[in-house]
Amino acid sequence: MVVAPVYTRFAPSPTGHLHVGGARTALFCWALARRARGDGGDGRFIIRIEDTDQARSSDESARGILEDLAWLGIVWDEGPVWVGRLSEPTIPGTDVGSESRPTQIGGDPRGVGPFFQARRVPLYNKYVERLIASGRAYPAFETPREIEALRKEATGRKQTYRYDRSGVPMEERLRRMRAGEPHAVRFVAPEGGVTVRDLVLGDVRYAPGEMDDFVIRKADGFPTYHFAVVVDDETMGVTHVLRAQEHLNNTPRHVALQAALGFRTPEYAHVPLIFNQDGTKMSKRDKAKAARKSFREALGKPGALGTADFARDLGLTPDNLAAFLTGDNDSLEVAGAIARHLGLALPEIEVCDFRAAGYLPEAIVNFLALLGWNPGMKTPDGRDLEKFDAAFVAEHFSLERIGTGNAKFDRAKLLAFNSERIGAMTDAEFVARWRAWAADFEPDLAAKLTDRQLSLIAPAARPRCKTLRDLAAVLRFAVTPDDGFEYDPKAVDKVLRRGEPSGLVMLQAARDLVACTDPFEPASLNQAVERLAAEKGVGMGQVAQPLRVALTGQAVSPPLGETLAVLGRESALARIDRCVRAVSAPSTGAA
Ligand code: GLU
Repeated sequence: MVVAPVYTRFAPSPTGHLHVGGARTALFCWALARRARGDGGDGRFIIRIEDTDQARSSDESARGILEDLAWLGIVWDEGPVWVGRLSEPTIPGTDVGSESRPTQIGGDPRGVGPFFQARRVPLYNKYVERLIASGRAYPAFETPREIEALRKEATGRKQTYRYDRSGVPMEERLRRMRAGEPHAVRFVAPEGGVTVRDLVLGDVRYAPGEMDDFVIRKADGFPTYHFAVVVDDETMGVTHVLRAQEHLNNTPRHVALQAALGFRTPEYAHVPLIFNQDGTKMSKRDKAKAARKSFREALGKPGALGTADFARDLGLTPDNLAAFLTGDNDSLEVAGAIARHLGLALPEIEVCDFRAAGYLPEAIVNFLALLGWNPGMKTPDGRDLEKFDAAFVAEHFSLERIGTGNAKFDRAKLLAFNSERIGAMTDAEFVARWRAWAADFEPDLAAKLTDRQLSLIAPAARPRCKTLRDLAAVLRFAVTPDDGFEYDPKAVDKVLRRGEPSGLVMLQAARDLVACTDPFEPASLNQAVERLAAEKGVGMGQVAQPLRVALTGQAVSPPLGETLAVLGRESALARIDRCVRAVSAPSTGAA
């Protein structure tokens, strides 16, 4: 069987972080190319950075996007060179681990780069000139402001603005261009309609006259998105363009440009948009929305500061904060400042958010694959097959199984995928993965914890952790100084002051077992606590809870044996003594 080549590309604009929707598109592009390769054909996945909007693009953003793709394991065959560390097994029999080897991804084996559009300007100019020479494009001298005024005027007349090329004769345009007058270049839109053949949506027809003479090169000399994308897809040999449905209405322009330039039209597949559970489109703005809502609630609380005081506390100008609150801007910086101030977790939207929150790349990839696609297979017990890895996606991915309706981003499902993967790990693997994560996101905590402490806590904590970050929360008590944490007043009141005998008395009795139990390990410590409870004729909780509050300040902690063992005898005794002193002190109560 001869398999036709499949060259796909993911073409992010480096104007921010990688959105999960972008990651999903990249995954589909990767999978389609891999599938072709698996079928014995020539499959390549290309990354191209669309940075022609110089004001909004940054190298930092491009680097971050590549980093997140590599972290997800969505590796590209051609494109910007990325050198970094990919996960490699450290534990035999598993495919993950904390150590990794330096790897290089990308490159230009066919000589079709560079892969940053801003470095391809001479190529675009060659094709712009070709279109001008054939009368399919022409210079236009209006400034963006003039065009905006004309557009407003048309809207006022309840009409759609269409650029009118008849105002200036072609010869005059060319003369003014040659004389060096600043200009944009516009494409002569085709008279007839355009049909977009889409492998997911079928034929989509655009009527004659819907397209106007759109700009293909801006006055700053950079091509517009429409032009660059067409030239690049052709010159990079892209055979399949997979992108989100929001680009569908751009495609007739691309098809018209391809015809005018004598290029092939690649296969198009527009994939479903990703929506929140509440039916709104999932976007970066969701962070601003969440921050705004919580902030308004906080402002409404009795005794709350005024906006001006808040702005000072947040390090913002009152105007900036006010503009954010009225929705005039959706600044992520302001949203972040509010979130930090209120101790609020903003919704995860971008890949880096999920990464920081302690999600595993394999859980994200599995989940993303199901946003608009499914393998159409059943599990042995007759349910839809939903759990698989990237290799499975690469083996089974096909455009026929992409849906047309919007995909729903079900956060609870993603969290369930993640916790299941953590649940299936060995403790050693969990610790290794946590260390790798914490090196980036909790370096101080990681530096203070020994491997022994981690392996003591892992068996008890792992089944309770839905994310890697959850383990950080569980472990925080172990790295605070013995006299450096506060007691939850409610827990002190309920657990230490009340009861007959009181919790405080129990705590004093438990001190002896902490002082004597040997070995100082979870199993023997748990047994000692049980024995003490039996001796005193009380339930386990009446011994365990006072100890727990003394050791951690809270009524909730990992099992007591583990909590004690992680602290070590000396620290545990110091904490008990401090707590006894604090609770016995007549005037101050708990410190
Ligand atoms: N740079 C475009 C974007 O980030 C890519 C669109 C396309 O795939 O053609 O949305």
